[in-house]
Amino acid sequence: MNIALVAHDNQKKDMAEWVGFNYQTLAQHHLICTGTTGRIVDESMTAMAKGHGLTMALNLTKLSSGPLGGDQQLGALITEGKVDLMIFWWDPMQPQPHDVDVKALLRLSVLYNLPSACNRATADFLISSPLFANGYEKKPVDFSLYVNRVV
Ligand code: PGA
Repeated sequence: MNIALVAHDNQKKDMAEWVGFNYQTLAQHHLICTGTTGRIVDESMTAMAKGHGLTMALNLTKLSSGPLGGDQQLGALITEGKVDLMIFWWDPMQPQPHDVDVKALLRLSVLYNLPSACNRATADFLISSPLFANGYEKKPVDFSLYVNRVV
């Protein structure tokens, strides 16, 4: 699967720890991260692997930093059907300069029926679901009702 990882600054340490905890599972997938989240996950996993005498084996793509357009890049990938699941730990206690991008990303994740986790507990439920391990065929979203209404 292509799994998107995004964490706001106060959530990044927690996200890196969660990725480390689920390393064996996540190493079997492609991770798509906004820039700084990706860098921190990458550095933290490299340090963890080194501590065990291993090399980091995550397949990880870094987009631009979220506030510099990374959220929008991720939104475009969702629109193109290139994201299967999103872990997005946004900060409920701090305003973001790119709040409109955050909102747009959350909107697209709902619009495209993307399995999404906005906190650690939900991420734990997703990653431990049999559907995560065995594959999940999403029902395609039918937009015809809206298209007909506009026309
Ligand atoms: P970042 O972006 O990973 O580059 O910090 C996250 C966000 O704030 O959207």
